Amino acid sequence: MSQFAYQNGVLHAEGVALNAIAEQYGTPTYVYSKAQLLGNFAAYADACAGRDALVCYAMKANSNLAILDLLARQGAGFDIVSGGELLRVIAAGGDPRKVIFSGVGKSVDEMRLALTHDILCFNVESIPELHRLNEVAGSMGKKARISLRVNPNVDAKTHPYIATGLKANKFGVAFSDALDTYRTAASLPHLDVCGIDCHIGSQLLDDAPLLEALDKLIELIDTLDAEGIHLHHLDIGGGLGVDYGEVGEGAPVAVGDYLGRLFRRVDAWRAERHGGKPIKVIFEPGRSIVGNTGVLLTRVEFLKHGEEKNFCIVDAAMNDMARPALYQAWMDMQPVVQSSAAGETFDVVGPICESGDWLARERALAVAPGDLLVMHTAGAYGMTMASNYNTRGRAAEVMVDGGQTHLVRRRETPQELFALESVLK
Ligand SMILES: *Cc1c(COP(=O)(O)O)cnc(C)c1O
Repeated sequence: MSQFAYQNGVLHAEGVALNAIAEQYGTPTYVYSKAQLLGNFAAYADACAGRDALVCYAMKANSNLAILDLLARQGAGFDIVSGGELLRVIAAGGDPRKVIFSGVGKSVDEMRLALTHDILCFNVESIPELHRLNEVAGSMGKKARISLRVNPNVDAKTHPYIATGLKANKFGVAFSDALDTYRTAASLPHLDVCGIDCHIGSQLLDDAPLLEALDKLIELIDTLDAEGIHLHHLDIGGGLGVDYGEVGEGAPVAVGDYLGRLFRRVDAWRAERHGGKPIKVIFEPGRSIVGNTGVLLTRVEFLKHGEEKNFCIVDAAMNDMARPALYQAWMDMQPVVQSSAAGETFDVVGPICESGDWLARERALAVAPGDLLVMHTAGAYGMTMASNYNTRGRAAEVMVDGGQTHLVRRRETPQELFALESVLK
């Protein structure tokens, strides 16, 4: 059940009307539901109950400290892609020993920071990275726990910008090179080879590609076992989609169903081929934890009737929500106050000086200037991708908990946007 629903014709987040939030905090504003967030995490945690499993929330989807804090309290680990994200985990009270570090370009400083905080594992993506990490760990008198991100070459059947598991992608080590790369890793004195990981793409509605990737990882674990390289964990990545509400797109598989199928395969393999030995299973979900946890609340500035199109110009823009401009993503737009008036067809666009600055196209909306709209399912890859283009301060973020609202990030002021700059002396 969504925590964003109409009550007496007004869209609410849990118990709070969104027009009240707009009054108090202004627009554009991201509004999150605590209950939705915790419910989404619980779907993973419940399916993992009693198992050696860890859910490492991929915080690039939404890294607000309030979200990290709530998830850390539920026992979440974190999948990070930068040193800055590790500092956020620590600032939010998360446990660095439940952190895995992904990404193709980890710097020496980032490696050092992560080793200082004794993170759970580096997900290494190339041989040069293995050598760099080995050197950095050696210089600190430490051993770095590593996993290799292998590229299982399965087609996730998603948008090309968010498919990551194909041969043509920059991510991971090719499946055919994995064995040699593991041998190299095992020969390096300051690395502790402990796992295998993959991440095949994002916004997957079906779990078949994920289970196919699992089978490939398992095959490699068997091969490595025969070589005397014994892994302690397997990390299947993230990637499960959310329902953006686009007609004809279909709903994603339920988290519990996917994890149930995955654990049945893992259990059968362990019993039949792995000598009953334990293996920890790690997940890196991002979008499926926070996607439907948030909406972007925006106000209509003007309506403009053009020769070919009608434009609904709102105060949110591509700098607040980049997904449509970046991936042609379809996101649902709805009025905060329901109306029975006949609508017109609009392109919903922002004030930024780019034709790519659109949020939704060809939508039937009954709106007038001053009305409030929400963009649904905006909790993932919304605020984290926001920029200050056109010297626009980033939106405020508000978390609703029952009948209460909490400002979890205040709106940036224009002065803050140039406070770090200086003119020539
Ligand atoms: C982005 C990313 C994730 C999260 O993906 P979602 O589709 O949001 O679940 C997980 N792992 C890695 C390595 C990623 O880059």
